[in-house]
Amino acid sequence: MMKKIQKCPLCKSSKYTFYSNLDKNLYSEKLSEILKIDENDLISKIKNLRCFSCGLIFKNYLINDKYFAKIFDKYIPVHPRGIDVGSKKFSKNYFDKLVKNINKNDEKFNQYVREIKSIISSIPNFIKKKDLNWVLNNKKRDFGSDLDLKKLNLKKNKIRKLINKPAEFKRFSGYSSINLYKYLLKKFSFKSYAELGCSQWGMLSLMKLKGKEIFFIKRSEKNFWNNNCKIGGVNCLIDKKRKLNFKILNFKKNKNKNYKVDLLGIFQYLDHVEKPFKFLKELNNLSKKQVFIVDNFKTLDKKVYIQHFTGWSEKPFRWVARKLKKKIVMDFKNKNFKDNSLFILK
Ligand SMILES: [Zn+2]
Repeated sequence: MMKKIQKCPLCKSSKYTFYSNLDKNLYSEKLSEILKIDENDLISKIKNLRCFSCGLIFKNYLINDKYFAKIFDKYIPVHPRGIDVGSKKFSKNYFDKLVKNINKNDEKFNQYVREIKSIISSIPNFIKKKDLNWVLNNKKRDFGSDLDLKKLNLKKNKIRKLINKPAEFKRFSGYSSINLYKYLLKKFSFKSYAELGCSQWGMLSLMKLKGKEIFFIKRSEKNFWNNNCKIGGVNCLIDKKRKLNFKILNFKKNKNKNYKVDLLGIFQYLDHVEKPFKFLKELNNLSKKQVFIVDNFKTLDKKVYIQHFTGWSEKPFRWVARKLKKKIVMDFKNKNFKDNSLFILK
């Protein structure tokens, strides 16, 4: 069920060192159920390693695709962060409902805790507010299912007053950022724009609004949300296509044709890919420039969580840029973006 990894999945070097241990989250909870392994055992067996040569973080074990497919098709078929963008969850009403219904004996307890944490940490300037920042247990991020309910009840009225509009780049706003759009325009001109991965949380609507020709690139997915990801009974991608009327390009079929999209957005996706260099070469056949958003795990908690096979930072992107003879741009700054890093290959 797990394959031992002997070489860096990007540069194939076999020189690496221990980087960090894992923490529990929703995916480790589900994987431990599927694999019938105690969650603590699973979490301690899998480690994050760091490649000496290209700097990529990768796992000592690759969990077989079929278990991830089970998670993404059956256990968590709907991408939680994707569906939350544009949902009504970041609201006083929904917060009240969660606080009222939260109960340690309820089977939905863990989910409610995570939702409460997500709402509170999406409030603008969350980390500077004493009535709020306790919720992540003094960590920069915390997907665990523990919450001080007494404190929540004590603070709930102060918290609900602050629930108005979610901060940019947080769970309920996604990557549809006007500041990011302006930044990209300043860097280069582009007429066509595509995305792959989750159709719900990116810049497709905004790009269309700004007159760009938009596309979605469909890839056969095992390690990511796919056909069973639905909004109101309709597949997420179909739902988005109905709203925005974009063309769907097939990742495979299209790769040898001459048409290239000017700019391709790959947001929080690269870390799901088993063979990253092959994937990146293929992206390069589909698009002229690529903009990547990845977790800024180094300044967060140095954790690359169980559902992510790799962790990306400047060094591995430089390695890729050199191999593909591309230039790298990485100076996007935004106070709400600190949990992420942005890299452009052009
Ligand atoms: Zn490497």
